[in-house]
Amino acid sequence: MQELVIPSMPASLDAFWMPFTANRQFKSQPRLMVSAKGMYYTTADDRQVLDGTAGLWCVNAGHCREKIIAAIQTQAATLDFAPTFQMGHPAPFALADRLAKMLPGDLNHVFFTNSGSEAVDSALKIALAYHQVRGESRRTRLIGRERGYHGVGFGGISVGGIAPNRKSFGSLLPGVDHLPHTHNLEQNAFTRGQPQWGAHLADELERLVTLHDASTIASVIVEPVAGSTGVLVPPKGYLERLRAICDRHGILLIFDEVITGFGRLGTGFATDYFGVIPDLVCVAKGITNAAVPMGAVFARDGIYDAFMHGAENAIELFHGYTYSGHPLACAAAQATLDIYEEEGLFDHANHLSGYWEEAVHSLKGFPHVIDIRNLGLVAGIELESIPSKVGSRAYDCLVRCFENGLLIRTTGDIIALSPPLIIQEHHIDHMIEMLGAVLKEID
Ligand code: PLP
Repeated sequence: MQELVIPSMPASLDAFWMPFTANRQFKSQPRLMVSAKGMYYTTADDRQVLDGTAGLWCVNAGHCREKIIAAIQTQAATLDFAPTFQMGHPAPFALADRLAKMLPGDLNHVFFTNSGSEAVDSALKIALAYHQVRGESRRTRLIGRERGYHGVGFGGISVGGIAPNRKSFGSLLPGVDHLPHTHNLEQNAFTRGQPQWGAHLADELERLVTLHDASTIASVIVEPVAGSTGVLVPPKGYLERLRAICDRHGILLIFDEVITGFGRLGTGFATDYFGVIPDLVCVAKGITNAAVPMGAVFARDGIYDAFMHGAENAIELFHGYTYSGHPLACAAAQATLDIYEEEGLFDHANHLSGYWEEAVHSLKGFPHVIDIRNLGLVAGIELESIPSKVGSRAYDCLVRCFENGLLIRTTGDIIALSPPLIIQEHHIDHMIEMLGAVLKEID
């Protein structure tokens, strides 16, 4: 057992420009966490906070797992870094092999990145380059979806569909179009699991094909379950239809599984859950239990093979990161996968998903709640917005939950819950009890 070294309070909070944060608001009333174990954070004022969000949808095996700590320590002392450009070390080869065996179908090749954003931009670049190497270089158009979140690279925000993430950053990538999102409270409010209504929205892809012509479209990217935009569960049959339309027109289908990967839905990946196999899969977060940053893109055989032509001494893809396949990330990932396997955490999540569903839907009828949606171990609870103060009600909820000992995540007025997969029934009960009490308290 490691001895904990709790950091002292910083003299100033000014220099750190915090990401996706109201800096001035936060710095006037900071919420600092100093250590974590299992399902709980410990705050700077020594309170226990139940982690209802697996950190940021990423600490799927729970916090500070001994096995992961030991693996990182050993690796750091053995090989801290080796390049993977025209060089190598064993770890990423072994990890890629293990990961490829976890994915269905022929998603057999793994390109490593350091984050979900980089995984998305890598997947988009692979899609463009794939068409080019096959002689279809007119296929340059990228299709995303309204309310999609694909990280913060220029590729990701271009195909993404969250307006505030796009509007300050110029003209973004050219030649991008968007499918409509599938969120519809009139049709689907309080659905348990996948909504019945909405599969027809996938047919909008046919409209875009007619508009732009298939010969100009490289790929379509979607989150199988949209997370950051407020937990949007795909309607029954929707992903299947997207797959069929892509097949019909030679368009690559990319699943962004940065949140859904590694057990969130009670299966290894959303592609297993829905039985729909895309051409490229983006992952990050749960791949290392967030202990070391890592992301990856899985590619089907046909995509990888398309690049493996020409002179053997020619670099096939001019793309990569200094830290692609970093030894520490690989070590953390191997230990994380061991834990998932040894503790059967994906099955555990699946087993608990019914209990989870009952628990989150028990908040129906609580003040301000206008929708609850769930799948696997994820849930979205949508609150009615205060006119002209969108987001303030959920933010109030977040602050009070944190003060009362529960970490939640909010987007606008939607609360997202995505606990570590080690969660037990009594944690779920406590979480819902704390959230329910706060919902009754807030205006
Ligand atoms: N894609 C999805 C679906 C995500 O949810 C996220 C992050 O939440 C990303 C991409 C970006 O990942 P990162 O923050 O690691 O760059």
